[in-house]
This record gives sequence, C-alpha cells and structure tokens, in this order.
Amino acid sequence: MINKTNRRLFLEHVAQTSPAPMAIEIVGAEGSYLQGVDGKQYLDLIGGISVCNIGHKNPAVVNAVKEQAEAYLHVMVYGEVVQSPQVKYAGMLASQLPAHLDCVYFTNSGAEATEGALKLARRVTGRPDIVCCNRAYHGNTLGALSVMGDEYWRNAFRPLLPGVGHYDYNSQALIDAVGENTACVIMETIQGEAGVIAPDKNWLAALRKKCTDTGTLLIFDEIQCGFGRTGKMWGFQHYDVEPDILLLGKALGGGMPLGAFVSAHQMMAALTCNPVLGHITTFGGHPLCCAAGMAAMNVLMKDSIVDQVQEKEALFHSLLKHPAIRSVRSKGLLMAVELDTAESVSRVLKSCLDKGLFSDWFLFAPECIRIAPPLTISEEDIRKACSIILSCL
Ligand code: PLP
Repeated sequence: MINKTNRRLFLEHVAQTSPAPMAIEIVGAEGSYLQGVDGKQYLDLIGGISVCNIGHKNPAVVNAVKEQAEAYLHVMVYGEVVQSPQVKYAGMLASQLPAHLDCVYFTNSGAEATEGALKLARRVTGRPDIVCCNRAYHGNTLGALSVMGDEYWRNAFRPLLPGVGHYDYNSQALIDAVGENTACVIMETIQGEAGVIAPDKNWLAALRKKCTDTGTLLIFDEIQCGFGRTGKMWGFQHYDVEPDILLLGKALGGGMPLGAFVSAHQMMAALTCNPVLGHITTFGGHPLCCAAGMAAMNVLMKDSIVDQVQEKEALFHSLLKHPAIRSVRSKGLLMAVELDTAESVSRVLKSCLDKGLFSDWFLFAPECIRIAPPLTISEEDIRKACSIILSCL
C-alpha cells in the first residue's frame, strides 16, 4: 500500500524544487537496489547522484556510524578540538593524494567546499578575478552559482560575484583569459552536468602551465568524478596534471553529508590569520560523516572496486546499441546516453521507472540519460539495466 500520508506531507510541507517531483517513498536500500514503500524494487542507476559508490547499506559503513554514535556526536565546531574520525580521515585522504595536497578542510557539502576554495584562492593570491567554464556545475550557493556555467540557471539570482569570466571548456580562450589578476581557475576535472565531457590532455597541461606561470591557483572539482567513479581514484590521474586545490564531496561521506577542499598545508594556513577564522563551520567534518566516509573509502580500496570500473563501462557500451541512441559518452561509470531530445529522455526515464529502473538526466544536457550507478553494480544488473533502457526507447 502506498503511504499516502507521507506523500501528502512531502508535497505540502517539504520545499519543492520542481513542479513534478517523482515523489516515490523509499523505505530501504541495499547494494544497487532501492525499495519503495509499496514493496517495488528499483535498480539504482544513479547512486544518489554519484554518492553511493560502494552501494547502499554497506555493513562496514553502517557499523562505523553506529560505533561513532555510541562514542560522541557533536562536540565542538570544526577545527578546534581533535576528533578522531576527522583527523584519521584527513590523514587517509592525504596518503592517497599527491604530496602537496596534504591539508583537508572538511565542509558540510560540495557547494561549501567550492565557497571555501574560492575564498582561499582570493585570500592567498590577493587577486580578484575567477576564470571558470561554460556548462560547469560547482553547487548552488551564491558563490558557487557565480561560477556555474549556464545563464538560464544563474540569471534569476543576480547580482552574483563580480570578476568572474566563463569560457568554453577545452578552449584556448580560457587559457588566454588567465592573467596577473586571476586568483584561480575552477573547473570540473571531467564535466558532469554538461553530459560527461572530458578534458583534452594537452589543453589541461597547457592550462596548468599558464596557471603556474601567472601564479594563478588551479582548482579541480572532483565532487562528482572522484572516489573511483572514472576508473581511477581521482579523475586528474588520467591526465597527469595536479591541481593546487582539490574539491571533494558526494562519495566522500560514504552516504553521509560531507565535502572538503584540499590544498598544501602552507596555503591553507592563510585561513588562520587576516582574518583569523578565515572559513568556519559548525557541522563541517561532523564525526559521524567522517567515520562513514573513512569506512567507505576503506571498502573502496580493500575490495579493488575501482579496478573493475573500466570493464563495467565497456559492458555498458557494448549493450547500449540502438538507433535511438545518438552517442554514449563516458569516463568510467559516469556515463551520458544521448537521445534526440529532452522530451524523449523524460519519456524514457518515466517508463524505466515503471519497469523498476531508477535514473535521471543532466542539468545542462537534458537530452542525455545519466548512468552513474554504484561502482559495485554486478554484471547481471548492468545487463538488466541496459535491457530495460532498450525496451523503453
Ligand atoms: N560540484 C560538482 C561537480 C557537483 O556535481 C556537485 C553536485 O552535484 C557540486 C559541486 C555541489 O555539491 P553539493 O550538492 O553537495 O553542494
């Protein structure tokens, strides 16, 4: 029986962001499946939008949360007292990153990580300008919205940050725009909401050089493409280019809300003076979230999950063949299946949902179906997902 009371409460008392929400009530989630209140099982092809990289309800994560809840929940805002899950997780992340990315500032969300990084870049360089990409997504707060690359989504919220220039991803114009007044370039290592667009390796190397030559900080946003999603632990490992500041989120918390910006310790020290408390947060790096995130990252590494991503990506490609599919773009298990129009995608998504397949579209590429399942998805479930999609086309 559908729980009508909860659905009504959702529609009447929870803020809505679209005129037609799915409004499906989920009562359980395990592995690659969501369970609806009516008992219906949904194969989850989006993993909470690239959050649940090790699948739902992994016992190691559940136990870590339980153990931390027994020890303590909130004790003091971030950055004042030593909290074991926080410091251990920061150390673990630093051990998996290039040597200069050794200092982690934990935040509540990806958007707050973006805000913190933009502030850090301005504070460290003393410069006003920011270079960013068309069709980029870095979050929904005002600073993050200012570096979002789509006028339709930005315009209603003006005035936004001044000094921000948007250029095409992979363009020479973007490199040319970086100069002595540029505090930072912020970009997704692999663009997600644009419908999965990868950088050209030479372009990225040239951009890195221009940033280094002009003293501009290069920020890579790996909030969506980090934690093995692309077939390597970090997206930038595909290109041999390293950022000055790295943004993390989504899978970082293992299903709990957590973001981070990571830089060299010496750079991050700028937030301790002029002004002191250069970025502060009450809940960023909450011990429960850090405990969950660390447990999830342990599973990701111990079970060699990332090593299987490219094989699974290839299987999707081999199965997704149909005259209605214009292209399949991917970097690992971040995939965009392009149809002719946004209307076709919306129709297909609806019939997939009816057949028990849960998926979505992309903010700046509504003509594409999103495929970003738990990285642990089985071969059998990949076959099942593709067969449902093909039957709905
Ligand atoms: N950056 C990227 C690349 C994202 O995909 C997202 C969220 O989708 C964000 C930033 C913002 O993260 P959050 O929704 O946690 O604020």
